[in-house]
Amino acid sequence: MNENKNAIGRFAPSPSGIMHLGNIASALLAWLDARSRGGKIVLRIEDLDPDRCSNELAVKIAEGFKSLGLVWDSGWENKPSDKYAQSNRTELYNDIFDILQKRDAVYPCYCTRNQRLAASAPHQADKLSDFGCKCRYLSKLERRELEKAGRKPAWKIKAPDKIVSFTDGHYGKFSENLSDTGDFIIKRSDGVFAYQLAVSFDDMDMGVNRVVRGRDLISSTARQIWLIEELGGKAPQYCHAPLLTALDKRKLSKRDGDLNIDELTKRFSTEEIFGLLSSYLNISDGKPTSAEGLIEGFDWSKVPKEDIVIK
Ligand SMILES: [Zn+2]
Repeated sequence: MNENKNAIGRFAPSPSGIMHLGNIASALLAWLDARSRGGKIVLRIEDLDPDRCSNELAVKIAEGFKSLGLVWDSGWENKPSDKYAQSNRTELYNDIFDILQKRDAVYPCYCTRNQRLAASAPHQADKLSDFGCKCRYLSKLERRELEKAGRKPAWKIKAPDKIVSFTDGHYGKFSENLSDTGDFIIKRSDGVFAYQLAVSFDDMDMGVNRVVRGRDLISSTARQIWLIEELGGKAPQYCHAPLLTALDKRKLSKRDGDLNIDELTKRFSTEEIFGLLSSYLNISDGKPTSAEGLIEGFDWSKVPKEDIVIK
């Protein structure tokens, strides 16, 4: 408790659907992690992909946090060109991109659209990020030919043969050689910056030093630490959390309609929702409670490491 009064955590929702119980659990843990240290929360809207995200959903998610009492201290206010929405940060990402380009750290990739799109979806990016791509080794002439034929490249960053080690606040020690996941896309062919670059830069730029998120993102962590350090920053402490899964073991998603915030708040009070969640997360006895009521005594060691099946 109170070990780090300067803790800055974040809510970083992607406004591509209605918030569900899994999103609420992640937000609650991020909030408790910061608040139990006397720290603060920043709200950032991760709306990089214009085809999947909407301002309307961002507003709805922010209202959802507020109605649950998960209040934040700074960040997104839904102002025109609000710099806490990733869709308004393209100029900043372009500056970073220019720096990397000057260092010869990036190259154009002319692979198919499917591979490129994978880069903007953090949960699918790993399998496809470097699959079979030989674009790093194209000659200038070959690149010119492809450009002449109208091919628009995505941009990849060169992953070095380097081991990144970190200690996750919940799951312990990890070590990964960046060359195992390979080069990855930081800018799509349509000009939209990819998740890994945006998130790494934003956490650094917004002073976030505690990142709490689902454990499906552990596999992105080494790359993000490396990117932040390449950009001259200090990586945050990462704390990954177990996922909430449906009975068939798949991660809860927007498809689980009865667990979305609209349905939940129709059936339960806020206190009942947190009572239920706190028992799933093993951080309290399950009695109805406010989020505030869970701060005292919050301890990561109580939170399970295995995914949590919602019955
Ligand atoms: Zn390629």
